[in-house]
Amino acid sequence: MAIETVGVVGAGQMGNGIAHVLALAGYQVQLTDVNQDALTAAIALIDKNLERQVAREKITAGEKAAAMGRITTTLKLTDLGPSDLIIEAATERETVKQAIFEDLIPHLKPETILTSNTSSISITRLASRTDRPEKFMGFHFMNPVPVMQLVELIRGIATDQSTFEACLKVVENIGKTAASAEDFPAFIVNRILMPMINEAVYTLYEGVGSVKSIDESMKLGANHPMGPLELADFIGLDTCLAIMNVLHDGLADTKYRPCPLLTKYVEAGWLGRKTGRGFYDYRGDTPVPTR
Ligand code: NAD
Repeated sequence: MAIETVGVVGAGQMGNGIAHVLALAGYQVQLTDVNQDALTAAIALIDKNLERQVAREKITAGEKAAAMGRITTTLKLTDLGPSDLIIEAATERETVKQAIFEDLIPHLKPETILTSNTSSISITRLASRTDRPEKFMGFHFMNPVPVMQLVELIRGIATDQSTFEACLKVVENIGKTAASAEDFPAFIVNRILMPMINEAVYTLYEGVGSVKSIDESMKLGANHPMGPLELADFIGLDTCLAIMNVLHDGLADTKYRPCPLLTKYVEAGWLGRKTGRGFYDYRGDTPVPTR
């Protein structure tokens, strides 16, 4: 089945970026959210980000206008019924995602492919509660979506080859590269990245280095574009902690235990850039290390 229309559920950080790249590649996109403000903000942000691409001469003004014209928004989840592909990018809570699939399924065509952008929830478990586990898979974009080149495609235990191939084609059409991952906790990128970030927090906790020396070491000594603590602040320390807990619980190995200092920052509400403070304090003109 050729995919022409895509329903995107959730218009937050990820959903707006997903709608942006799909519309630019020529797909008709319906974006839904429970919150009208999120939809309004998403459209404004997509417009702004496309405008930036026009200014950098990556796309023409005509391509921007065509992309904007391919995106419609709705508060009604069931309006997504006629979609060929659903990409769910709502809040990272299993009950939320499960309810979305339950409400949507009676309105879908039998051949519609269902996917989730989840960073950590088992694809096999989400799929098992739908009427089409063979047509269900993980479609995991990286943040920020318009910039990052990778999409992880995660097969659940029941996902069939034609579903994988249809999703792979979408990834190629939007000009990104897919990595195929099996459905185990945190997939590939976060399985490797989060323990590194957690280890950087242990290095800070044990006094081996300061925020500045740890980030500089990894930037200048390992050629990373961002230091691990700076990156943790960008991702959100609550998200980092949640993913470490998924690894710790799902793989039952003490090597994944979250650093107590990471837990302390989250308890303080110092969640990184989004709250103005994390391993750095962002409230002034330049970020200042908090340790
Ligand atoms: P977000 O909080 O920015 O956005 C989530 C949106 O979902 C909100 O606008 C919320 O109103 C909406 N929502 C909640 N319940 C809904 C429902 N029942 N129906 C429709 N919309 C609903 O979150 P985000 O960072 O965009 O993350 C979304 C998903 O993407 C999560 O599964 C997350 O794990 C995954 N993800 C996030 C990142 C990241 O770096 N933030 C990276 C990759 C994947």
